[in-house]
Amino acid sequence: MSFQVYKPCNQTQNKEEYICTNKQCLAEHKKQLHCYPCLTKLHRDKKQKISHLDDFMEMSQIMIKVQQKKDQRTLFLNQIQQKAIDFQKEKVQYIQKYPFHAIEYLEEVVLKVENEISKFLNYLGCQQQMMNKVQFYNQENHNVIFDLFHSNENQYVSNVQQKLYDLFTNVNKFLQQKDLNVYETLLNQKKKFQVLEEKVQALEKPFSLFKLIKYFSAILLVIIFSNLFWQQTNQNTNILFKDEQKLIESIKLTVQEQMSLLQLDTKNQIDEMKQKWFEELIKEIEYLKLFNQKLKIDIMELQKSLKDQNQAQILINRNQKIQIEILEQQFQNQTNLITSLEMKFENYTNQENQNQFQEQKGYNNRENKDQLIVIEGQDQKVDIKLEKALKEMKQFVIEKIEINRNYYNAQLELLGRIHTDFPIILLTGFQLQYFNDFTVQFTMNKIKDIKEQVSHQAIICLGGIDMKKQDRFVLMACDYAFEVFQETVNVKKARKSRSGDQLYWYLVKNYSIGFSPNEIIDLRQTDNQDVHDKKRFSHLLDHPNGGGRRIGDQLTLAYSPDHSFAIYAIE
Ligand SMILES: [Zn+2]
Ligand SMILES: [Zn+2]
Repeated sequence: MSFQVYKPCNQTQNKEEYICTNKQCLAEHKKQLHCYPCLTKLHRDKKQKISHLDDFMEMSQIMIKVQQKKDQRTLFLNQIQQKAIDFQKEKVQYIQKYPFHAIEYLEEVVLKVENEISKFLNYLGCQQQMMNKVQFYNQENHNVIFDLFHSNENQYVSNVQQKLYDLFTNVNKFLQQKDLNVYETLLNQKKKFQVLEEKVQALEKPFSLFKLIKYFSAILLVIIFSNLFWQQTNQNTNILFKDEQKLIESIKLTVQEQMSLLQLDTKNQIDEMKQKWFEELIKEIEYLKLFNQKLKIDIMELQKSLKDQNQAQILINRNQKIQIEILEQQFQNQTNLITSLEMKFENYTNQENQNQFQEQKGYNNRENKDQLIVIEGQDQKVDIKLEKALKEMKQFVIEKIEINRNYYNAQLELLGRIHTDFPIILLTGFQLQYFNDFTVQFTMNKIKDIKEQVSHQAIICLGGIDMKKQDRFVLMACDYAFEVFQETVNVKKARKSRSGDQLYWYLVKNYSIGFSPNEIIDLRQTDNQDVHDKKRFSHLLDHPNGGGRRIGDQLTLAYSPDHSFAIYAIE
């Protein structure tokens, strides 16, 4: 800031470097700067009371404050200017590379956009210029200085930002009006091509056919007319006739020339259309390629985020596979065992028979027959036993496979989701782990029990049941045991399930266990967040009076004998 010279006061010889910053005084007085005694005198009323005393300030102090604001504003205005310039660059590039319009058209659009933005840049420039004028205090920049001094900078910043935002909106709207919105243009492309195609077809077929007919009839008319003329005049000289023939010939030639010209013209038009059509198609293909690239990136990001989940899934599937393989191996072993048993038994009975046969000589026939019958009976019994064992073994394996299938289906259809009005019969292969009405206390110990009963990869479905309709869950959610029974501490936030995007669990000691479709919860014992939300379930934990109390939008079900808490599991 330049050096400011303060005049000495005529009366006191003190420097005139004080001013009253009260807004009313600033607006009224002509002479603003005074020495301190004079300024006090001016503010003294008849009762000797001095007003505005707190507003008296040394001019140099004011200028320091003003300079601070100036610096801040300059910085801010520079940032806004940069944003506008960046925006301009981005938009101009976008327009110039836009493939669906003629270059002249695009240039016109660019010009208008640049105009609009430079208007805003001018406005910023004016703001800056006005501030730059303020180097020291004088009558001329009195207003600028005190506007700055009294200004609310937050207000100023938000005003300018609003202007920038309006500019962005206006330009984008303008581009949309000028058909420079990619998505809409792409939509319109198909229609345009259809119209083009129709035009080409029209040129190729009915248009040229119509013209041909027209010219043929012209020739025909000329011939008829000339014949008529000839008939009428054939009594006259031959010369006339010859002239007539020449005329007809020349007309014929002209028509033929015109015909071929027309055909050429039509052909050119068709070629031109085809060329144009082809070019537009190429442009669209290029644009679609760009979009595909963007899609690829989206897909890659999606894959990245799914990777963890997939890996978990793969692990589980691998475990299942191994389990099935073990079962199959067991089954095979059992079968082998049974086969070898059968063989041993066969050998044994053969031996027996042989022994019998050798000893037969010593016994009479009757005895032999009796003994044979007994042995045959024993043989049959053993056969039945073996058969039964084999059947049981098969049944066991089939059941195990069935359970695995059910588990797999549960993974596909139930996992990571919240279900309403869900029939329990659809929980194929699930086993009941807990079922009690809300009069019964649900405890951490019970959770510990269930966790010991099932593996942490078991799928758990839990929720609330209305006892009037015991065959279905009013509200239920399914997830792996390790997700469901993971302890949390935050009473305002639930933990996101890795199995689904709209499932969040919480298990807070001395509060409750439950789920919600988003992160925000409000545990006052149980969840009170969004009383209308039908997808929130919350059940008291270790509460001395019992369980409950929220199933969806019913929040007053504490200790209710008419509602139940159920937990199912499948391994
Ligand atoms: Zn005053
Ligand atoms: Zn004075």
